[in-house]
Amino acid sequence: MNKPKMATEKGVPSNSRVLMLLGQLERMNGEAMGRDVETARQVTAKILHLIQTQEKSGKEVMSKGSTGMEVILASLEVGLTNTTGHDRTLTTSTFYLHKIRSLIEVSRGRRAGVFVSKGGTGVLFQILISASKELPPSEELMLQLHSLLAKVGPKDRKFGVKARLSGALNVTVNLLKQNLQNTKLLLPCLQVLRVYSTNSVNAISLGKNGVVELMFKIVAPYSKKNTSLLKVALDALGALLKSKTNARRAVDGGHVPILLALYLDWHRNDTRHRHMLIRKGLLVCLRNITNIKLGRKAFIDADGMRVLYNSSTECLPVRTLDPLINTSSLIMRKCFPKNRLPLPTIKSAFHYQLPHIPAAGPVAQLYSQPPGVDDVVDESDNEETDNDDIETDLNKLHPKKIPGRPFEELRVYERFFVELSEDFQASILFTVDNNSSTQPSRPIIVPTAQALSPKRDPISIPLGGCNPTKGTHTLPNWGSDCGSEGAEDEGAEGAVLEVPDTALLLPLHDPDLYVEMVKGTLSVPQYAEVAYPDYFGHVAPTFREPHLERVYGVQRSKIFQDIERLIHPNDIVDKVVYDLDIPSCPLIEDNGESLKFNSQFESGNLRKVVQVRKNEYDLVLNSDINSNHYHQWFYFEVSGMRVGTMYRFNIINCEKSNSQFNYGMQVLMYSVQEAISGRPRWVRTGTDICYYKNHFARSSIAAGGQKGKSYYTMTFTTSFSHKDDVCYFAYHYPYTYSTLKMHLSKLEALRTPQIYLRQDVLCETLGGNKCPLLTITAMPESNSNDHICQFRNRPLIFLSARVHPGETNASWVMKGTLEFLMGTSPLAASLRDAYIFKIVPMLNPDGVINGNHRCSLSGEDLNRQWQSPNPELHPTIYHTKSLLQYLAHIQRAPLVFCDYHGHSRKKNVFMYGCSVKETVWQSNISATSSDLQEDLGYRALPKILSQIAPAFSMASCSFVVERSKESTARVVVWREIGVQRSYTMESTLCGCDQGKYKGLQIGTRELEEMGAQFCVALLRLKRLTGLRNHQHLLDLESDIIGPQCKVIRLFSNSTPQINHYARPNLTLTTKV
Ligand SMILES: [Zn+2]
Repeated sequence: MNKPKMATEKGVPSNSRVLMLLGQLERMNGEAMGRDVETARQVTAKILHLIQTQEKSGKEVMSKGSTGMEVILASLEVGLTNTTGHDRTLTTSTFYLHKIRSLIEVSRGRRAGVFVSKGGTGVLFQILISASKELPPSEELMLQLHSLLAKVGPKDRKFGVKARLSGALNVTVNLLKQNLQNTKLLLPCLQVLRVYSTNSVNAISLGKNGVVELMFKIVAPYSKKNTSLLKVALDALGALLKSKTNARRAVDGGHVPILLALYLDWHRNDTRHRHMLIRKGLLVCLRNITNIKLGRKAFIDADGMRVLYNSSTECLPVRTLDPLINTSSLIMRKCFPKNRLPLPTIKSAFHYQLPHIPAAGPVAQLYSQPPGVDDVVDESDNEETDNDDIETDLNKLHPKKIPGRPFEELRVYERFFVELSEDFQASILFTVDNNSSTQPSRPIIVPTAQALSPKRDPISIPLGGCNPTKGTHTLPNWGSDCGSEGAEDEGAEGAVLEVPDTALLLPLHDPDLYVEMVKGTLSVPQYAEVAYPDYFGHVAPTFREPHLERVYGVQRSKIFQDIERLIHPNDIVDKVVYDLDIPSCPLIEDNGESLKFNSQFESGNLRKVVQVRKNEYDLVLNSDINSNHYHQWFYFEVSGMRVGTMYRFNIINCEKSNSQFNYGMQVLMYSVQEAISGRPRWVRTGTDICYYKNHFARSSIAAGGQKGKSYYTMTFTTSFSHKDDVCYFAYHYPYTYSTLKMHLSKLEALRTPQIYLRQDVLCETLGGNKCPLLTITAMPESNSNDHICQFRNRPLIFLSARVHPGETNASWVMKGTLEFLMGTSPLAASLRDAYIFKIVPMLNPDGVINGNHRCSLSGEDLNRQWQSPNPELHPTIYHTKSLLQYLAHIQRAPLVFCDYHGHSRKKNVFMYGCSVKETVWQSNISATSSDLQEDLGYRALPKILSQIAPAFSMASCSFVVERSKESTARVVVWREIGVQRSYTMESTLCGCDQGKYKGLQIGTRELEEMGAQFCVALLRLKRLTGLRNHQHLLDLESDIIGPQCKVIRLFSNSTPQINHYARPNLTLTTKV
């Protein structure tokens, strides 16, 4: 222990006096029993007086480095153990405590902190215990002790534990019990109790001692007297009620109705809102009690919903009462009786019979459950252990080029790589697969065909029999009335449908071709309708679409409207207007009072609609086929609307805990009337958008084993501007499988003699659809050996997209890539000359066609099957992986592998890659330096993208290998195929918060631009190095992303061609 200095270095007299006295006191403390109590008291009094009156003395004693406080505390302790003359000791202690308290009070808690750090709390508890042995205890001393404890308690993190171990809890409790009428002593005791109660063990022990009941004796109806006492008592009670046993005690004691009555009393009488903290304190007690099931029941039984709903509605106009409304809202949401979704089962409305069902697989589990069990909150005890997701097994982290299968098996894939052995001696250069034109024989209904029929019955079109001509068609009775009867008369007055001519704006779109493509698309529900947006096409709007600014209080008012359903049940219509589970759907009796819905077309998803109020609808999405969850994607049609009316739509079975709908994202709407008027486009729409947890219970079977989960509501409000319109709503810009086939067919037509384009069918999907594989590169310049050699030896780039059907943005990015690659620009020509592109543009056609969000028909996420894909259940993944394994075998593993995805929770476009080093850095694994030798080449492509693509953000990229991702394309291609630059590229569904598009929602133009810029970046990757040898490329790249000077040197050494592509403002000034 440092001795107090007898003088400061500057020798200031005022300091020397207090320090001298401290020294004297310290010596006297050492004498213990024999010391002169009176003198010690005088010295201490002088010290305390000096500290109080002289700022410098105060600082000297109360600073963290000083031992002054320790000396005073020691003196206090010694004084206590000196048993000669209790009265004197008490007086002395009381005197000291009073002085210390006034000392501490002046510093806003800093001095209390010093007091605690010097062991002051312990000394106080000691005094408390010894003083309590006096009968009766000195009221004055107890008052001083508790006042001081109340000050230092909040500064001492161990306060609760110290109080319990020293036995102080009971002293305070007994004091309380004996002094309920003694306001002067009650207040400091309650203040100390409030601190005790924040410790959960103390709370239980205090509860056993009857303190909960005690507090209920103190809380009282509205009165202007003793409000600070009431406030502290409520705080203490609130803390005590966090313990479930105490909450149960309060319920059993019948206190829930009492608390509600008290709240109402204060709400009514506190008209000038002077006592908001008391009202809040009452609500906090209710909030903590309703954490237990019994509490929620008692709350409902006491009509708590109505009490809090009405009082909150009255508080709404006063902004300062927001904390009361928010806490009330929280309690009401918690107590809102949990409903089941209005569905017979949460399993998908569609069923697809798998060729075989693996015994331990998800589908076997799904269909082995007894009926109805999936909607019950069960006792499943699966524990989620997702906390530590980073891969820490170094063996797994190191890429291993293991060709998993013998080459004999892989040899069959040779036929997909004709270009690698092509000698161009034969006259036929291309082997275009034309199988796609053979169509299965089944009836198809197209929207325009309805107009061709005089009776407008659904028309079964024999294959090839329907060839609707572009031009004017009469569209009868807009809407989803396929199969309806008795609509003939209205039809004559139907709108005239002019198919918008988008040929110039959309070179890859052709409505007639689209219909042809639909005929060959096989869906599980055997869709026979075509949605107008897919038929007409989408021209990206030229105006900006900023993020929607969230209006204050939107979520609260939506939640209150939901609660109103319970308060005013008679206002609720509760009418089912659309239901896929009814065989005759969408035929539901129509009295003109409801909107009409339809989702029975390719990529459509909407299962059920319940009209809840005149202009409000609850919408339920359909689970992915052979699954009971994964829904998020929606795409549906609405008709029968009134112009100018505001309609509220609630999607009530969302699963994710948060959504970009809370951060500026709007839904997409397509108006057929607008399209006919020459504006065929999806536009961001909707106001009052928000996303929140609702009162529909989620089965633990569909919630990964977690019990007690709820669904979430995504709500939006919109109006319609045209009479007799048909409008479509979607989660994101739709992009169907038939659209892909149409685009590929049009791209084929764009091919010039310089372009080598081959379309193969990689395989058939479970649903019988073809999975296209594209090969794009440049034709060799001539038949010369050199040129053919160059042609065959170009590095490969392997791209894929849309493994997740709900991520339609990935398809728009892919469209941008394909259009760029097939373009006539010099950049495109150079790119084709530099690489051979292998592209699987849609890894999950079945999921896309059937309106799934995440899975294929096997009910599984295909991007979790890459480690051991099953050829029967996951054919597209199995064969894509085989192509890569084949390439690895013949030493032609691609230079870059990239799988395009969409991201629902983040803004911007970014990449995930794989790096051993960055994974090790993120975890606590100890690795030797040899483990960490890694080429930095994986960072070059995202870095270039961040410089040339406005939507791309390097800051959002990650190169960590997660355990949960070990069976994704990215990780498997990196680890097993040995591709260092193996990525997923994630595009936002919402918009950007950086770069040129900051503050804007993303559109198809920006997504397509991203796909094109991806190509430019690949070219830059190539140009920067000027080398064709892969390994060299890697080495050089790590140089590039190293020191800046090297980058500049590379640029200055580059050929004139490079200067042509490297715009000056885009030079690589990489910081890694
Ligand atoms: Zn994805």
